Amino acid sequence: MIISEGIVIRERPVGEQDKFIDILTKENGVVEASVRGARKTAGKSGSATQLFAYSRFCFDLRGDRLTYNSAEPIHIFYGLRSSLSKISLASYFAEVIGDCIHPEAQSADVLRLFLNCLHYLENGRRSETMLKAIFELRLMSEIGFMPDIIMCRGCGAFEPEELFFCIDGGGFYCSDCFEDEEADGWMKVEKPVLQAVRHIVLTDFDRTFNFRISDDTMSELSELTERYMLCRLERSYKTLDFYKSVAVREDNNGSKKIQ
Ligand SMILES: [Zn+2]
Repeated sequence: MIISEGIVIRERPVGEQDKFIDILTKENGVVEASVRGARKTAGKSGSATQLFAYSRFCFDLRGDRLTYNSAEPIHIFYGLRSSLSKISLASYFAEVIGDCIHPEAQSADVLRLFLNCLHYLENGRRSETMLKAIFELRLMSEIGFMPDIIMCRGCGAFEPEELFFCIDGGGFYCSDCFEDEEADGWMKVEKPVLQAVRHIVLTDFDRTFNFRISDDTMSELSELTERYMLCRLERSYKTLDFYKSVAVREDNNGSKKIQ
């Protein structure tokens, strides 16, 4: 029997009572498991296999495949369900992880990133925009798409006041070295955005969530991280489109600031 901590990132009903779940585990990447009788099981073992349940799973090894045996919940993230915006953002994170992290991948750092994002999303101590930016950029770095953010590619300037970030190439030029302001695939950003990008990518994980920037800078950062991630993964996500529609609607109601 193999025991691994993990979080459920997807569930699909099968027949009347069973379901398949995808679990982001610490050591085995994303594992698909069949849970028999899941939909009539109440109590601890039922909650341990629902979406966004972080649990200690027991798997059996059959051939080279892990199959679900049992689970004990560690944290269920019930607080996410209080807000359509929060649950939508969490669903977007989960879809991206399901897309990027494969079986047998070493996934402890991605699991930690996801758990921390959900933790701050649940307790509301960080803005949704900030969590989205951190998730997108840090995830890209964890899976081998770290942007090149050390210096201007033309002259080596370390910290120009404004710069042009190349979405495709993942690097930047200062405004003296950049030639074509009309070209696609570039974003003009100010120095604080570069500093935030560097913080997210380069800082120790324990300090990743600790930085403060203005709302305008956060919006620019969020646009940059989203465009960079979608470009690297070469696809779009319906859950992202839905999250954005929900976040905007809540803003228009005046009940919640746009994230
Ligand atoms: Zn330069």
